[in-house]
Amino acid sequence: MDKLETLKKYFGHQAFRPGQESLIDGILSGRDVLGVMPTGGGKSLCYQIPALLLPGLAVVISPLISLMKDQVMALQQAGIPAAFLNSSLSEEELRGVYRRAWAGEFKLLYVAPERLAAEGFLNLMREAEISLVAVDEAHCVSQWGQDFRPSYLRIPAFLSRLSRRPPVAAFTATATQEVRRDMTQLLDLREPLTLVTGFDRPNLYFDVLRPKKKDPALLSLVRERQDRSGIIYCATRSAVEKVCALLQSRGIPATRYHAGLDEEERKRNQEDFRFDRRPIMVATNAFGMGIDKSNVSYVIHYNMPKSPEAYYQEAGRAGRDGEAADCILLYSGADLVTARFLIENGRDNEELTGEQRAQAIRRDYERLEKMAGYCAHSGCLRGYLLDYFGQEHPDRCGSCGNCTGEFVTEDVTRQAQMILSCVKRAQDKLGYNVGSTLIAQTLKGSRGRRLLELGLDELSTYGLMKGQSAQEINSCIQLLTDKGYLLRDSGYGGLLLAPKAGEVLFREEGVTRWVRLAAQPELLPREERPARRKERLPAPGEEGLFQALKKLRYRLAQKENVPPFMIFSNATLTDMAAKQPRSLAELLEVSGVGEKKAEKYGAAFLLAIGEYLDGQ
Ligand code: ADP
Ligand code: ZN
Repeated sequence: MDKLETLKKYFGHQAFRPGQESLIDGILSGRDVLGVMPTGGGKSLCYQIPALLLPGLAVVISPLISLMKDQVMALQQAGIPAAFLNSSLSEEELRGVYRRAWAGEFKLLYVAPERLAAEGFLNLMREAEISLVAVDEAHCVSQWGQDFRPSYLRIPAFLSRLSRRPPVAAFTATATQEVRRDMTQLLDLREPLTLVTGFDRPNLYFDVLRPKKKDPALLSLVRERQDRSGIIYCATRSAVEKVCALLQSRGIPATRYHAGLDEEERKRNQEDFRFDRRPIMVATNAFGMGIDKSNVSYVIHYNMPKSPEAYYQEAGRAGRDGEAADCILLYSGADLVTARFLIENGRDNEELTGEQRAQAIRRDYERLEKMAGYCAHSGCLRGYLLDYFGQEHPDRCGSCGNCTGEFVTEDVTRQAQMILSCVKRAQDKLGYNVGSTLIAQTLKGSRGRRLLELGLDELSTYGLMKGQSAQEINSCIQLLTDKGYLLRDSGYGGLLLAPKAGEVLFREEGVTRWVRLAAQPELLPREERPARRKERLPAPGEEGLFQALKKLRYRLAQKENVPPFMIFSNATLTDMAAKQPRSLAELLEVSGVGEKKAEKYGAAFLLAIGEYLDGQ
């Protein structure tokens, strides 16, 4: 069997996605590979298919227990023998997995990095034939990234203890240069075939809203998407509690997740969400890594997250089935205050030296600033994110709030002059450059301690923009940076004037910005919104059959105790309703129907299709 046949037979897909084929070929030819793909890009198949094609056992190192469980369950559904080893198993279950692994029953074995040093595990690894070692979420090895896991540093030692070094395949969705370099070095990859696929997720629609009051805006966004599954991310546990209670009080089937709940409740709520009993999850960022629920059709951020990486990863949990999905961020200036607080207190219980901690915090601030830049951005939002990940893109995507919204221009020359002259005066006074926060505080006339210590209250520009909100001042500073009037020094990110700032300061060159009109399309009913993208929804004549198939899927899911999307995705049911197969051969033509699933569920679905069509 070749790789395309394997893709069809086990996973029911008709073609590879960009990048998948080269990575698979790389592994099959015995090379190390490094795959950088966005969340939902299809990384798992890149090692699962070689695992099926190569003799022996593939070891998958994965950071999170919930992720392993889901992946193994999905593999078993597709008829692939797989198992996981982690601390959630009982002694007896562990022994069972070891026994079957020794007997050579599995093609894939998922393990947590902590297990790599365990003697019993190493014995198995030295004796068994290892086809490949896949490292999922490989950025966890890097201190530059957000999710540093010291136990990932043990991977090279583990590899060196194997009797033969198999190809090592590392995957991540984090693309910054430093992290990429770290992955190659610290995981000891040998001349890896490196493939960075496009980060764009065309089926995601991005928007930032600044409602005066978030709660009514949130309610209207959620109501408008009733029957759909969504995640609402909040910055703090208390916000999760508040928002979840709000939704529930309005009869919306929401549940919640954060690290303050006991494990049993976390598990219960997560399952309610996965099985669509409560299709709306309100959560902190503790929720998600490892949630492979493909039918999430929107992700709303009730607060601004702390970095573009975090945002893209969390928002990217929408639309993993390829269907149109929405990523909406509700921004307010207070989010910035919360985010700063979380940064200052966020790394206390990590095992870092003082120096490492200071550096990590500095990087956290840099990322926060980029995130704030996203919220203030008036150009294409998708473009902003792709820029951050170093990917080229057209000026306008045509499918984000800023590309579809209505704008008017506003003259901000006066504000620009005040900001530029404040930057200049601060620099003249201190002899070095201060960052945007201090500049904004000075213009606002704040009594901040640091500001007073530096004597910035003595500047003639102190309090000049008293009447404006901190958010307005910040977004104006961002605008001047975007337009190249202000620069940031490479060391500490202090602001300094670009040569062309003189045009504005002395020659009164005008500065304008685009302001989006208040009537924001996302707050309009769905029908009234401007057309903006292809939605792969069932055609009107196919809706009835689609609903019938969904009901059948739900019944089967309840019976087997698996989440509905693990039987077939919505995209598969839509395709099935369109193709209306009447035989097993025709059913296999439907995208997402592999042999095993056809065998298992084919009869039931064909029967339902027959009944539906005959009853027409
Ligand atoms: P990642 O690990 O990169 O976040 P996954 O491996 O979980 O992404 O894949 C995301 C989704 O894309 C899954 O639902 C998977 O079935 C689907 N998928 C992956 N490869 C293909 C393909 N070649 N054709 C169609 N769907 C695919
Ligand atoms: Zn756009």
